[in-house]
Amino acid sequence: MELDSIYRTLGVSLPVYKFGEEVLASLRRRFEEVDRTAEYNQGKVLAAMQKNRVNATHFSATTGYGYDDEGRDNLERVYASVFHTEAALVRPQITCGTHALTVALSANLLPGDELLSPVGAPYDTLEEVIGIRESKCSLKEYGVSYAQADLLSDGGFDYNAIRGKINKRTKLITIQRSKGYSSRPSFSVAQIGELISFCKSVKPDVKVMVDNCYGEFVETLEPSDLGADMVVGSLIKNPGGGLAPIGGYICGTRECVERCAFRLSAPGLGQEVGANLGLMPAFYQGLFLAPTVVAGALKGAIFAANIYEKLGFACIPNATETRHDIIQAVTLGSREAMIAFCKGIQAAAPVDSYVTPEPWAMPGYDSDIIMAAGAFVQGSSIELSADGPIRPPYAVYFQGGLTWYHAKLGILMSLQKLTEAGLIRL
Ligand SMILES: *Cc1c(COP(=O)(O)O)cnc(C)c1O
Repeated sequence: MELDSIYRTLGVSLPVYKFGEEVLASLRRRFEEVDRTAEYNQGKVLAAMQKNRVNATHFSATTGYGYDDEGRDNLERVYASVFHTEAALVRPQITCGTHALTVALSANLLPGDELLSPVGAPYDTLEEVIGIRESKCSLKEYGVSYAQADLLSDGGFDYNAIRGKINKRTKLITIQRSKGYSSRPSFSVAQIGELISFCKSVKPDVKVMVDNCYGEFVETLEPSDLGADMVVGSLIKNPGGGLAPIGGYICGTRECVERCAFRLSAPGLGQEVGANLGLMPAFYQGLFLAPTVVAGALKGAIFAANIYEKLGFACIPNATETRHDIIQAVTLGSREAMIAFCKGIQAAAPVDSYVTPEPWAMPGYDSDIIMAAGAFVQGSSIELSADGPIRPPYAVYFQGGLTWYHAKLGILMSLQKLTEAGLIRL
């Protein structure tokens, strides 16, 4: 059986398919490493589910207040076991990653406190949460100030600047693991651990929160293994395994998580309320699949970097670097190339494959944005997706893929569209 025939059916020409196979042949070692990490993390998730005696009663739906929701409570114990924390808050009522981070910040910062980011500017959506960009209900409006230590020009931590910024009001330190949509490197868990140790050596009672978005299960350790008081993320990214249709999580110390629960629902109610609305099967099974799904997405990112670097495009991370998140930036250098790339990703999708992505103005952005996504869960970025602002250096951010084979097809289709547009020659 020849694989190229099914790729031809899908719209990938023989030269594109062969180019992909050549690149792939050099990636066996890398893929084996990714698989070993996934195997370890699968074991970690399984051990957590076994320890907490997951059974069919945990999959029942609850409605209304959701009192005595054993499925929800046990899922939180499972998450706490996976992340090696005392407690966890894992809820469909947490609507997205930004919401989870907002709950964690506003629950653990009081008027007069200061928040410090020792890793430069936070993710875009947090600017309004913190009040870096004015917004109603920002932390700033509630009297919480913000300080920032930028990274050194080589991407390293500026320990002197960080020491200088920690003061008697510094209550919480926020560290973003993934680069998100910036051009700095993403941090390894070991690097984050060093930074946490440093901050706590300067101020032992300071709390540290890690924005863990896109980083879960990429390594065998999580920031909570190395001293983070809270790790926070979205269930429509890595830990939802593609099955969770909504939700966010906060894993951490009992003290921090309890405050988060009081903030999310109401003081006094905390974790006791919050019906699961029938989402428990998706949350449990998604977590179970997450290590494998993340491995597929990582293979896709590594494949993309190796393909596009070979064609002369700059990639962050580059073709050979170790990975700390699932995001791949490819600098395509022109508007036309960005459009062609995204058309390819879209054409490879299981959902909405027939639509054509177009650059469009989006609220909050000063240039047109192009997005490709054909996802089962709307906006899910653990599913194969690509996007980027149409402005120099014309970089697309590529991430996800519920299976490695789908990620592979997406990348081959992007290459196909670039070839057809006459923008590259193989
Ligand atoms: C996605 C992301 C967020 C925000 O998550 P949303 O679910 O889009 O609100 C925050 N930080 C980082 C690093 C992210 O990647």
